Amino acid sequence: MRLSRYFLPILRENPKEAEIVSHRLMLRAGMIRQEAAGIYAWLPLGFRVLQKITQIVREEMDRAGAIELLMPTLQLADLWRETGRYDAYGPEMLRIKDRHERELLYGPTNEDMITEIFRASVRSYRDLPKNLYHIQWKFRDEQRPRFGVMRGREFLMKDAYSFDIDEAAARRSYQRMFVAYLRIFARMGLKAIPMRAETGPIGGDQSHEFIILADTGESGVYINSDVLDLPIPPADVDYDSDLSSIIAQWTTLYAATDDVHDAARFAKETPPEKQLHKRGIEVGQVFYFGDKYSKPMKAVVTGPDGVERPVLGGSYGVGVSRLAGALIEAGHDEAGIIWPEAVAPFRIGIANLKVGDAATDAASEKLYGALQKAGIDVLYDDMDERPGAKFARLDLIGLPYQIIIGPKGLAEGQVEVKTRSTGARENISLDAVVNRFA
Ligand code: ATP
Ligand code: MG
Ligand code: MG
Ligand code: MG
Repeated sequence: MRLSRYFLPILRENPKEAEIVSHRLMLRAGMIRQEAAGIYAWLPLGFRVLQKITQIVREEMDRAGAIELLMPTLQLADLWRETGRYDAYGPEMLRIKDRHERELLYGPTNEDMITEIFRASVRSYRDLPKNLYHIQWKFRDEQRPRFGVMRGREFLMKDAYSFDIDEAAARRSYQRMFVAYLRIFARMGLKAIPMRAETGPIGGDQSHEFIILADTGESGVYINSDVLDLPIPPADVDYDSDLSSIIAQWTTLYAATDDVHDAARFAKETPPEKQLHKRGIEVGQVFYFGDKYSKPMKAVVTGPDGVERPVLGGSYGVGVSRLAGALIEAGHDEAGIIWPEAVAPFRIGIANLKVGDAATDAASEKLYGALQKAGIDVLYDDMDERPGAKFARLDLIGLPYQIIIGPKGLAEGQVEVKTRSTGARENISLDAVVNRFA
């Protein structure tokens, strides 16, 4: 992408409404624009990040055996009346009427709808297990939308739903999602810790929230510091095998949100020097709720014994749009954002330091073309501006690498490569640059 043809509305001033660094940087870097309280347009740079996050989530869900579909954002109120949740959900639910006075709602979550889809066709234990997921916008009329996309009203969530014949199988589905979540967040360069958690309006008897530590987080958490060093399951983890040893490893050390925190147990199980009381950002949550939805909605399957029983379920959410903010909370400095390569909007930014100079233009164009041909996401700053402005902009938007091309280096056949995360700079010959990144 050529910057001169791109749409990157950088803000020079610090936006007053932004209380935390990720919100400030997303606005300043031209990633998002607020259209109403807690409702954002994703501008091209932000949208690229959102798509990268989405793709990682999708790949790991697919790897774990989940199947993608897409449910609508609008749902019938009557569906939610079947489970009693229409009245129970409260003011976070956005309720809408169509021209025929039919009551609808903008989905805050999809347990009811997926159960309806499931019961319409699945009859037998032979069709199980199943795990269906979608990546779709949700609406929750949050009392206090704030911190930009971290607590929006409209936000993008990945939500998966598992269906099993008995409790043992359902627990295995829960474990598969637990392992997939460890991988999803690690691939983004985040340390998300699974913590025992309250189940809230989703209900159920077992739940873990995946939380990354950050002072700006809204949850209070208590952990044994050793959980920060536990190993992430590898890409070739066998999801058909028994995953309970991985789960045991991740759930033995104390880690709990303040809703379920047990001070006496924490003190007993955790040496004083390892007791951490911190704040964190919830980036995902997994629930096991058994027949909470299948029973009232009569989503039943016949077992091997020919007897019908309600299917047992769990649900599994990832805050896809919240992650864009959480990643910045975890990766930034005074100059701006520092993206991990896996989710960066572009991997490389080229800064042509002397636009209009024939040799510099030619070398920049050639490199830009060659990197694109090698399949690398690259943003080419071809604007006629002073070098200082270019450096500041590239630092602000946080691309992992900057290739700086100016007449002085070129005279010796060299360009400079700066690594955003470390600030390290190296001179590389123009001919070797593409191979360095390919
Ligand atoms: P929170 O405690 O932050 O209100 P939640 O527990 O209500 O979140 P869940 O129902 O567990 O949310 O939804 C799954 C995921 O969706 C959460 O883990 C979070 O990452 C994300 N999420 C929830 N609410 C919002 C929101 N208002 N804005 C952005 N992401 C959200
Ligand atoms: Mg909430
Ligand atoms: Mg929560
Ligand atoms: Mg939650």
